[in-house]
Amino acid sequence: MKILQNTFKTPYQTAPFQSIKNEDFKPAIIKLIEETKAEIEAISKSENFPTFKNTIEALEFAGQQLDRVTSIFFNLNSAETNEEIQKIAQDISPLLTEFSNDITLNEKLFARIKEVYNQKEQLDLTEEQKTLLDKKYKSFSRNGANLSEEKKEQLRAIDKKLASLKLKFGENVLAETNAFEMHITNKEDLDGLPEGAIEAAQQLAESKGKEGWLITLDYPSYIPFMTYAKNRALRKKLSIAFGSKGFNNNDLDNQNNVLEIAKLRYQRANLLGYKTHANFVLEERMAQTPEKVERFLNDLLDKAKPAAEREFANLQNFAKELDGIDHLEKWDGAYYSEKLKQKLFNLDDEKLKPYFKLENVIDGAFKVANKLFGLTFKEIDTIDKYHPDVLTYEVLDENDNLVSIFHADFFPRAGKRNGAWMTSYKPQFVQNGVNERPHVSIVCNFTKPTKTKPSLLTFNEVTTLFHEFGHALHGMLANTTYPSLSGTSVYWDFVELPSQILENWCYEKEALELYATHYETGELIPMDLVEKIKESATFNEGMQTLRQISFGLLDMHWHGINPTEVTDVKAHEKEAFKDTQLYPDVAENCMSTAFSHIFQGGYSSGYYSYKWAEVLDADAFDYFKQNGIFNRDIALKFKDNVLSKGGTENPLILYKRFRGQDPKPEALLKRAGLIK
Ligand SMILES: [Zn+2]
Repeated sequence: MKILQNTFKTPYQTAPFQSIKNEDFKPAIIKLIEETKAEIEAISKSENFPTFKNTIEALEFAGQQLDRVTSIFFNLNSAETNEEIQKIAQDISPLLTEFSNDITLNEKLFARIKEVYNQKEQLDLTEEQKTLLDKKYKSFSRNGANLSEEKKEQLRAIDKKLASLKLKFGENVLAETNAFEMHITNKEDLDGLPEGAIEAAQQLAESKGKEGWLITLDYPSYIPFMTYAKNRALRKKLSIAFGSKGFNNNDLDNQNNVLEIAKLRYQRANLLGYKTHANFVLEERMAQTPEKVERFLNDLLDKAKPAAEREFANLQNFAKELDGIDHLEKWDGAYYSEKLKQKLFNLDDEKLKPYFKLENVIDGAFKVANKLFGLTFKEIDTIDKYHPDVLTYEVLDENDNLVSIFHADFFPRAGKRNGAWMTSYKPQFVQNGVNERPHVSIVCNFTKPTKTKPSLLTFNEVTTLFHEFGHALHGMLANTTYPSLSGTSVYWDFVELPSQILENWCYEKEALELYATHYETGELIPMDLVEKIKESATFNEGMQTLRQISFGLLDMHWHGINPTEVTDVKAHEKEAFKDTQLYPDVAENCMSTAFSHIFQGGYSSGYYSYKWAEVLDADAFDYFKQNGIFNRDIALKFKDNVLSKGGTENPLILYKRFRGQDPKPEALLKRAGLIK
């Protein structure tokens, strides 16, 4: 426990994973909460006249060790969890919520902040300091600092409930994912599957002491089966299992959790004087209001729908021609799309995968970062890892100064949640004249190496790696004074710009030449394949766009309205999907009950931001394309005005400083092939 309470005595003060025991977390966090409380008491009870330094800055730097320890804990709860950690999370989450409410409801403290806030025009503050002051003030007012005692009490109760409901939601999704396996004993049922997928399924069965093959709901198992398996009945079975997570009327069912979360969020917004949860959230976004988000999504829907419907009709005809399928169902989508794509482009993932050995792709991402920003990645084994699979690096700039520590964790495990994400163990900030460098991590669930093959990535996994690496660069290149404004601490609808822009390099010949070589022969990826990758990238883009829009609309349908009267999760969801639906509805399935992004993670009222950021990334990349994708001047502008600036200023201002003009949607629509 002691080890967690003080500044770590490790190289670069990295997290001492090997010395931490699970049981250390709870007592350490309780102790650190006490210490932070004392720090904050000292600020709020100060006899001195409130100033920016003794109030705003002091508050910003209070509780640093608590932040470090809780970030370690919750990162582990996502990437390397078990029942013990989950139990601790259930115990400490309410404590942390209560603690942060104690701060935001501390009247003496708020009075001091308000005092500084009210004199902000007279103070000689930098832009970053102004932003920090504004952010601190709002973090109180938006959390009820101006409420009556009674209402403050209500708010506390809601937040406590929400915290544990969200945790429960995520645990249910993970448990449902792990609970399902499709045991296959007849080899014919694997017809169509690539060898690697068959081998992986066999190894999984073997590891569980079973004959035959096992298919699970983990993406590396689920996706190949849905894409390649000829057996339509089994695809249906797997698809329905995947789509009914949290919707099985068992003790892992999430329907009530969804309803309760939506209602509590609505009540919370009302209490604070906002019309809906989305109004509350969007106040601090580029998009500002639910109306603007809906206009944005519906405008894109209008432009994408004709293309999507054309694509769907093509796919239906193709399936009919090939296998006499009269009605295309959800479990046919990936399968026939892949077949049609093959026919049109003769390009399947299996053909590409040999050119994307994981180690080569990592190296490629590093080379791109080197050419753009002069970064070098040096693998090190001097710091602790939380799992042997994790890779650790020192990131250096051109003068060999440390830029960041970087962790990368690529393969699925039972205790890791699905998907891919970037996170950090320590933020960047400047204190006492020292620029403290960040500890950044990316976590993915990529295809594992087998006994005979290294990890060969699908092209989708390649873009995922670049995506998360883009987030990581945002964290690594941070150069701000205050930790809460550093790196990815930006408005949500801006946070995907650095990640999505980086995906563009995956399609460029000049970038692929750096790393995309065959894992056996060393041969460079043939350029006609590269051309096809680019051409096929917009294949069924209308349908893809519709899908993303549908998720954004579903999110707004839960959070941009009054959900008090909603009792039927499925019916409510169908209503949200009515303009975006291409496939027949599947009665057994529900998206909301496993929509972790918005019900467990922080994307509520924010799913639209993927598309929003695509407008930004297409527009920004267009600037690179015009001047060369490795143009150092443009890269430097991007680094200086966007990546290093974090949330220190309004994103629109940052963007315009980089780009020289407002973002325009044309580059995205063109890239997606939706306009000429
Ligand atoms: Zn992202």
